[in-house]
Amino acid sequence: MVFWLSFYVFFFVVSVCIGYRKGNLIAGVLLGYVLGPIGAILMYLSKDRKHIECPSCHANIHKSSYFCPECRNKVMNATV
Ligand SMILES: [Zn+2]
Repeated sequence: MVFWLSFYVFFFVVSVCIGYRKGNLIAGVLLGYVLGPIGAILMYLSKDRKHIECPSCHANIHKSSYFCPECRNKVMNATV
């Protein structure tokens, strides 16, 4: 019982951390709380809302950045 509880809490924390890093904290909390390990996996596979992919070099860059830090190309941020 204690083992299962710590196991569950671990995946809850993982899910919250992923949610925070993806700018989707509430979804991370909810998925981690309701689904535990499965929620953490779902959060891991979910779309990153905080970062976008550079159209030139496909680097993972922050949503609000105007120029790509990797290739210095202008980023067309159409999905705002
Ligand atoms: Zn780039």
